[in-house]
Amino acid sequence: MALIVQKYGGSSVADAESIKRVAKRIVDTRRAGHDVVVAVSAMGDTTDELLDLANEVAPIPAPRELDMLLSSGERISMALLAMAIHSMGFEARSFTGSQAGMITDSQHGAARIVDVTPVRLREALDEGAIVIVAGFQGFNRDTRDITTLGRGGSDTTAVALAAALGADVCEIYSDVDGIFTADPRVIPKAQKLDHVSSEEMLELAANGAKVLYIRAVEYARRHGVLIHARSTFSSAEGTYVLGEGMKNPREAEGAVMEEPIVAGVATDFSQAKITVAGVPDVPGKAAEIFKIVAKSGANVDMIVQNVSATGRTDISFTVPKADAAAALKALAGEQTEVGFQNLIHDDQIGKLSVVGAGMRTHSGVSATLFEALSAGGINIEMISTSEIRISVVLRDTDLTEAARTVHTAYGLDGDAEATVHAGTGR
Ligand code: ASP
Ligand code: MG
Repeated sequence: MALIVQKYGGSSVADAESIKRVAKRIVDTRRAGHDVVVAVSAMGDTTDELLDLANEVAPIPAPRELDMLLSSGERISMALLAMAIHSMGFEARSFTGSQAGMITDSQHGAARIVDVTPVRLREALDEGAIVIVAGFQGFNRDTRDITTLGRGGSDTTAVALAAALGADVCEIYSDVDGIFTADPRVIPKAQKLDHVSSEEMLELAANGAKVLYIRAVEYARRHGVLIHARSTFSSAEGTYVLGEGMKNPREAEGAVMEEPIVAGVATDFSQAKITVAGVPDVPGKAAEIFKIVAKSGANVDMIVQNVSATGRTDISFTVPKADAAAALKALAGEQTEVGFQNLIHDDQIGKLSVVGAGMRTHSGVSATLFEALSAGGINIEMISTSEIRISVVLRDTDLTEAARTVHTAYGLDGDAEATVHAGTGR
């Protein structure tokens, strides 16, 4: 008998029919003899609808009240799910984040979990109940107010519950089958991975993969939680996300797993490139520029600086498209101060990343990437690397073709086309 934490995303509980399907799946797990704790998201697009409503009554909704509002979405789904389980003859009890002991800091809309005290959950489990917890929310002890964890926060709720309760596995259910070698909507030949290391998962998520939220993966990595990302709509095994020293449970059962050098190819259309042209090539200029950009609140990703022949140089960097205007405005305001010649804004870029822990020990991984791009006649504008990742910036119109070519070059193509259940990945 195991303790299993399950998380169901909004698309899995979008209407009454779906809630009943999820209830059945939970009951089946219970019938198999396991203790079950469930973290549930708000139904379908509820959170977006509540946000729209808030913006209709106030241009800038008060953060405390916004959290009161948004946290209600998950309270609806938790109660309905508990009722559905009841009517199948099983004992189920729902709890809000604060009843479940999700203690957070006081940052409304982006609270961080600081402690989990699941006393009531343990009591309910001891009494034989299935436990349902509202995802995405917590409670701050100092302000005594309800908080929310940021969009997609129910993944983090589930992982934090799994850590606090010492669960055997945290199953994250969505409308996709697991983690793929690439986004199947971009690359139809993408394959589902049996497992991926948490460090690879973090790099993939940070570079455009959308199935799991970064903060949940970080939390799992820190607390040694085994994640199993799988589909609500099929009983097939999904993908295990393995922390340090963890083994794929199927390997323990005797299955032989291949260890590919490259785990996946991620694509990201969300960045823009800013070039600060004609920067005086003297010490301190990069520091000045990036201090200005940081103060504008823009989150810098890749940076390149050209060699200077003339005493001046160009510095290019990427930021999320949504941050570009603020960064440009801040830089323009300090043009004379910094002494650069002009600013160029380019939001027609795409980023391609190749991720794999095997890069540490295998040579030639980057050569394969550059050869594939060159054979496809695709121009590279920027390059950056980490220990287990190579990223390149390209024209956005080249990105899909480039990703397909590179996916093939690393031998990642599957035999069949991946099934996509119309999914959003949530
Ligand atoms: N309902 C919240 C959202 O849509 C939390 C979640 O789905 O994980 O962001
Ligand atoms: Mg949601």
